[in-house]
Amino acid sequence: MDYTSLTFPENSVFLVTGGAGFIGSNLCEAILGMGYRVRCLDDLSNGRRDNIADFADHPNFEFLEGDIRDYDMCLFAVTGADYVLHQAAWGSVPRSIEMPLVYEDINVRGTLNMLEAAKRRDVKRFVYASSSSVYGDDSTLPKVEGREGHPLSPYAETKRACEAYGRLYKSLYGVETVGLRYFNVFGRRQNPDGAYAAVIPRFIRLLMAGDRPVIYGDGLQSRDFTYIDNVIDANLKACAAPCDATGDVYNVACGGGEQLIDVLDVLQAALGTHIEPDFQPPRPGDVRDSRADITKAQRALGYDPTFSFADGIQCAIDWYRENL
Ligand code: NAD
Repeated sequence: MDYTSLTFPENSVFLVTGGAGFIGSNLCEAILGMGYRVRCLDDLSNGRRDNIADFADHPNFEFLEGDIRDYDMCLFAVTGADYVLHQAAWGSVPRSIEMPLVYEDINVRGTLNMLEAAKRRDVKRFVYASSSSVYGDDSTLPKVEGREGHPLSPYAETKRACEAYGRLYKSLYGVETVGLRYFNVFGRRQNPDGAYAAVIPRFIRLLMAGDRPVIYGDGLQSRDFTYIDNVIDANLKACAAPCDATGDVYNVACGGGEQLIDVLDVLQAALGTHIEPDFQPPRPGDVRDSRADITKAQRALGYDPTFSFADGIQCAIDWYRENL
């Protein structure tokens, strides 16, 4: 993807928290490719050194192994940074139901530490990852900012709290925050392994191994699957957007609603497999359908999701074929 239409001051420094994870490592790589300096803060709790191996020796790249629960570490990491892209968090709805205290510590306290550090060090912009899960039990489609239901999991609750702090840090202290509500992101480097892996890489891994993919529910639940390059676009545009777009939150999605069973069919067709899925009962905390209205991000940030689901899934399959 070509990000050269966006320019930042020469020698700008971007701090990417969670930069050794799926989305963070893709952000690091894209920003290095634009010629800017990148500092990555990650405790490697879910991220991997493999994810940053391609650019670990780049002269403009710096890796800090550290925990966002440690305020002094946050302050150290933010010092000298112009832009913060805060991705570090624990994901997974089911795991958050098992460990709500850990989620509160990392996702909420960790984000508050980062916001406070960003305020102390006067960063130009603080862009942070929120989630479509904040729409909770409101079943209206498409999901529009301002119409949220009650969170269905501790994970969703932590993201709702991050948004509240993001707004407060703009209104109380003038920190230019932008919250991005990601909708089911997928693409290169997303971890296919473990009990809490996201559905697309998990399906690809299982199909490639000849194993049966598990579908929780009837498979007719739908998601607005969003290719990683669209998420990179949103983050960079959020850094460059006018100040009056800050202190707010935006859907970052593709605007489609793919049913899980259809996603599995697309993957089976591409991989040449014909494996019957294993249907299991629905999991608590999961929403039934999710599809975003992306008008607000398009208007205020200039967000431009050029990768359709079909384009993105092809790129993802090609990547996993070469890398798994
Ligand atoms: P990921 O797990 O691949 O990346 C998160 C990174 O944060 C990991 O590298 C992990 O090691 C790091 N991290 C976790 N706790 C940390 C801590 N205490 N200190 C420092 N680093 C820590 O997940 P991802 O899919 O890349 O998600 C990035 C962000 O986007 C997260 O905030 C997530 O909640 C949000 N999000 C992701 C999706 C998606 O579909 N992937 C959807 C909605 C929101």
